[in-house]
Amino acid sequence: MDLSLVIPVYNEEKNLPHLFEAIYTVLLPMNKSWEVILVNDGSRDGSLDVLRAYATKDPEHVRVVAFRRNFGQTAAIAAGIDYASGETIVLLDADLQNDPADIPMLLAKLDEGYDLVSGWRKDRKDNAVTRNLPSHAANWLISQVTGVHLHDYGCTLKAYRRDALAGFRLYGEMHRFIPVFAHSVGARIAEVVVRHHPRKFGKANYGLERTVKVVLDLFTVKFLLSYSNKPIYLFGGAGMGLIFGSALLMLYLFIRRFTDGVAVLGSPLFQLGVMFAIMGFQSILMGLIAELLARTYHESQSKPTYTVRETINLKK
Ligand code: UDP
Ligand code: MG
Repeated sequence: MDLSLVIPVYNEEKNLPHLFEAIYTVLLPMNKSWEVILVNDGSRDGSLDVLRAYATKDPEHVRVVAFRRNFGQTAAIAAGIDYASGETIVLLDADLQNDPADIPMLLAKLDEGYDLVSGWRKDRKDNAVTRNLPSHAANWLISQVTGVHLHDYGCTLKAYRRDALAGFRLYGEMHRFIPVFAHSVGARIAEVVVRHHPRKFGKANYGLERTVKVVLDLFTVKFLLSYSNKPIYLFGGAGMGLIFGSALLMLYLFIRRFTDGVAVLGSPLFQLGVMFAIMGFQSILMGLIAELLARTYHESQSKPTYTVRETINLKK
């Protein structure tokens, strides 16, 4: 199989016929074997019936995964990827805000030797204040924190080479961080401008609150990427900093005791120093526990601490 489209579907009854039409227009003329995997994320409207009808009509191309209830867009995407058998995987939204007509362009870019091509909704048609502005801020923040510079993490329309998706699981709102994980396993990433349309039918499922989740997820992502192998560097570093701060405070109080005659115990700085010392030791201990967890994490999943692009003259 050359190409799998993965599409999360939640209450998109009215959009689905247009979506299928757009997909067929784009993919049928292409000289590739392809499938489209639609994950019905517990829709409350007739989406599943529509999907069923299309799957019956075209069993060669249309595949459906139906969740028992609504698990969220990230879970739907993760399931779609699990079931996909294409060498290349393209994700897009079911609401036609992404334009399937952009798919050939993404694939062409991928063929230039990239592992991941990210869509960029340069001219985005969503609410400027509640969506576009926070999204700009989030993209900037994610780029700064992770060092992977993309204009539009939130754009679902992206193309992936299958092996760029191997080796990590998606939680929370994390599908948008796939490029970051992929980058960490050595994927080559490109970005292309894609079209974006306003939603015609149904309504958007998200608002401002998603930005908060994204920022929280960013903490997890940064931690996983930078410290999941060596958590003691983070916790131990913080711990040593605190203990050092405590030592400086105590030294200052001690010297002041003799120069100005101020009692050590009479100053709130003393409590602060003690607190720093306790927190510092705690943090180091936490780091040690995290080291144990890191070993469980990698070994229980036989997850190596490296990724290999190819081997030469080696069987395994
Ligand atoms: N979606 C989903 N599960 C959900 C919410 C959304 O599978 O709980 C799907 C939805 O059908 C659409 C895509 O995820 O295909 C993006 O959703 P939406 O258009 O609401 O998000 P936005 O485009 O506003 O970011
Ligand atoms: Mg949308």
